[in-house]
Amino acid sequence: MKRNKRLKSNGGGLKKSSSRLRSNNKRITAHDDLNKKLDMIFSKVMRISSSDGDGRVECISCCAVKHWKDMDAGHYIPRFIQSVRWDEMNVWPQCRKCNRELGGNLLSYRTKLIDKIGHDSVKDLEDRRSKSTLSRSEKRELLKFYQEEFKKLVDARR
Ligand SMILES: [Zn+2]
Repeated sequence: MKRNKRLKSNGGGLKKSSSRLRSNNKRITAHDDLNKKLDMIFSKVMRISSSDGDGRVECISCCAVKHWKDMDAGHYIPRFIQSVRWDEMNVWPQCRKCNRELGGNLLSYRTKLIDKIGHDSVKDLEDRRSKSTLSRSEKRELLKFYQEEFKKLVDARR
C-alpha cells in the first residue's frame, strides 16, 4: 500500500518550556483539555493521512489492513513522553490488538519504522525522548494546524 507523504515533523526545534508552576486546578484542567483535544485530532490526521483512497491503512506492527476508523494511532515512544507525543514520525496507524493487547508490539514496530523512515530518523526520535515538553501556545498552534489538516484531508475525499 502506497502511503501518502507525511506532513512536516513538528519535533525539531522545540523551545524550552517555562518551568512556571501551575497554581490552581483550573489551570491543570485546561492543560489536560488541550492535550486531549490535540490527541484526538492528531490521531485522526495520522490515520487518515496514511490511508489509501478507500480509507484503508496498514498496522505498523503486524501489517493487518483495516479502515482508519477501526485502527488506533499507536505511539512508538509512549504517549506520556510529551516531547514526541505529537511527532509525526512517532505515531502511525496500528491495529487495536497490537496497540492495546500487545503493549504496542514494539519490536516489530521498530523494525517497520526503520523501513519507513530510516535508521537515523528512528535514532533521532529516540534521542528526543528526553527533551522538554511543548508549551501551551505551541500546543494551541499544533491544534489549529491539525484541525485545518483534518478538514483538508476530509474535503479531499469527498
Ligand atoms: Zn497489528
